Amino acid sequence: MSFNNPTAGLEVICGPMFSGKSEELIRRLRRARIARQRVQVFKPAIDDRYSIDRIVSHSEASLEAIVARTSEDVMKRLDDRVEVVGIDEVQFFDRGIIGVCERLANLGKRVIVAGLDLDYRGVPFEPVPQLMAVADYVTKTMAVCMRCGAAASRTQRLVASESRIVVGAMDSYEARCRRCFEPDLPSQLAMELSPTSGTGAGPADRDA
Ligand code: ADP
Ligand code: MG
Ligand code: ZN
Repeated sequence: MSFNNPTAGLEVICGPMFSGKSEELIRRLRRARIARQRVQVFKPAIDDRYSIDRIVSHSEASLEAIVARTSEDVMKRLDDRVEVVGIDEVQFFDRGIIGVCERLANLGKRVIVAGLDLDYRGVPFEPVPQLMAVADYVTKTMAVCMRCGAAASRTQRLVASESRIVVGAMDSYEARCRRCFEPDLPSQLAMELSPTSGTGAGPADRDA
C-alpha cells in the first residue's frame, strides 16, 4: 500500500433496488482480487436478509463481508494493509461514513461503496448524496420497470409501512420508472388498513 496507488479514490455505485449495485460492487472487488490487491468488504448490521457475513445480490452473486454496526466500527476493523475497501448498503450507515470514506481515499486506498440514492418516497437517502458529491466516480445503475419495461430509477414499496427502513426484497419492493412510480402508495395502503381510515387523519396508527 502506498500513497502512489493509481487506483486510489472514492467510487459510488447508486440506484434503486434490483439495479445491480451489489453485482457491480462484487464485480469490481473480484477484479481487484484478480489483480492481487488486498480487499476488505463491509456491510451494515441492519441488513441481515441473507447471511450475516456475505454481501449478496438478487442474482445470488456473493462475497464474504465484515458486518459493521457503525462507521467507527469500519475504521476499527480495517486492516491497514488493505488496498481496496468495499461497502454495500452504505445508506444504512451513520453520517460518519462520509468522513471515513474520504479519509481512506486520502490514505491512498480505493474505496468503492454501493447504496440506494433514493428512499421509497423518492427522497435522497443520506449519506449517499453527500458521498456522491465527494466521490471521484459516480455510477448510477438502472433496473427494469416492473410496470412498463422502461429503465427504472425508483424503488416502489408495495407494503403499508411508512418507516424509512423496511428490509425486504421482491415481496415488499419493485423497481419502477419515474412515470410509473407511486410514492404515496404505502401511505394509501396504510390508510386502507387502519380502523380509523376515512377520517383523513394521516398515517395509520399501528397501535390503534
Ligand atoms: P441491487 O444491489 O441494486 O439491489 P442486485 O445486484 O442485488 O441489485 O441485483 C441485480 C439483479 O436483480 C439483476 O441482475 C437481476 O437478476 C435481478 N432483478 C430482479 N428484478 C429486477 C428488475 N426489475 N430490474 C433489473 N434486474 C432485476
Ligand atoms: Mg444490493
Ligand atoms: Zn414504467
